[in-house]
Amino acid sequence: MKLADHLGADQPAPLVPPPSVKTAPFTPSDNIAELRESATIAVSARARALKAAGRPIIDLGAGEPDFPTPEFIRVAARCAIDAGATRYTLVEGILPLREAIAQCANARRAEMDISASQVVISTGSKQSLFNACFVLFGAGDEVLVPTPGWTSYYEMVALAKATPVAVRGRRENALKITTADLDAVASPRTQGLILNSPTNPTGSVYDLAELQTLLQYAEERGWWVVSDEIYRQIAYDAPAPSLLDAASPRARERLVVVDGVAKSYAMTGWRIGWSISNPEVARAMTALQSHTTSNASTVSQHATLAALTQNAEADAAVEMMVGEFRRRRDAATSLLRAAGVDFIEPRGAFYLYLRVPAAVAEGPDTGTSFARRLLEKRDVAIVPGTAFHSPEWVRLSYAAPMADVLEGVRRIVDEMRS
Ligand code: PLP
Repeated sequence: MKLADHLGADQPAPLVPPPSVKTAPFTPSDNIAELRESATIAVSARARALKAAGRPIIDLGAGEPDFPTPEFIRVAARCAIDAGATRYTLVEGILPLREAIAQCANARRAEMDISASQVVISTGSKQSLFNACFVLFGAGDEVLVPTPGWTSYYEMVALAKATPVAVRGRRENALKITTADLDAVASPRTQGLILNSPTNPTGSVYDLAELQTLLQYAEERGWWVVSDEIYRQIAYDAPAPSLLDAASPRARERLVVVDGVAKSYAMTGWRIGWSISNPEVARAMTALQSHTTSNASTVSQHATLAALTQNAEADAAVEMMVGEFRRRRDAATSLLRAAGVDFIEPRGAFYLYLRVPAAVAEGPDTGTSFARRLLEKRDVAIVPGTAFHSPEWVRLSYAAPMADVLEGVRRIVDEMRS
């Protein structure tokens, strides 16, 4: 069965060269036969190209903070370069950084005893997620992906030769999944569940009780749980719990928690992520990484060490950024609410997920046709919901200046009314 059969007919086409480009004969290997480009990255690339061509594009497509990396982190990187931190490190990363990550995790709960041997530093949380999928899942396995969900989970699972199976969250539950939703799709072939809270694209946050229930359900069935917590520090109404907060020592055995610095510390370009897992899984991921990228950038590891250990400066920087995101969220949601737009109330991350009314767009893929029209007619870039396997929605990012967010939302509302 093909990937698209499991996920519905709303997928972007597999990779093919545009007709105008002459290419040498190339038949992709079976490894990437069904691979699709990242739709979120494609939108950003299109918005950048239009901007470069002189169009005054308001870019609400980007999934990255619009703040500079905090000064104390940049200083640490410069010092590291001058001190000669320019060589290979251990594949799994420098010990002080792995210790700092373990210590941050242990500080969350009295009985937590994570050690550096359970931490693997990678070139971005994306690589950690890929490593986890590749070492845990294989042919014949099914992996449940809460849907709407971040575009790359489906592709990563498929690259591991396993089958991603969409678990649809219900609108009444802010598109979050419950065990009833899992019941509907679980099969004897299910081997894993991917969780992501705060969630890209909806901004929903699972509370501790919800995480505990989902984890217990997975534990009873012997599934692996991969928890992508890259937005955990960006939460508005209450702190977003980690799966580590929800897991018993036994549940932790089959849990891989992935995090990184890209979103919380405005460090997208530094490319540092990590995983926390049981030591055997950590060794397997290290072995995989030893044949792909080896260690993550040494300079970036030292910059990350500053972000995780210079606590007063780090807390102030995160608080400033989250405060600004909150102001934008509040302003954008009050405009949307006043206009009667159906959206998921964002509790974390920096995204707003809006439902496109069937009447305002053509065809079954209303999100894509609406996003295309908005870009061409009103110069606003947003991401169609197909990227997250829910074609009747669109995602806008408020990781953009307040004036752009407000103007972009006004144009969205106008386009929905036109
Ligand atoms: N996970 C989610 C849900 C994301 O939205 C992103 C980036 O957009 C990533 C992971 C990748 O983050 P990183 O830059 O650490 O690879």
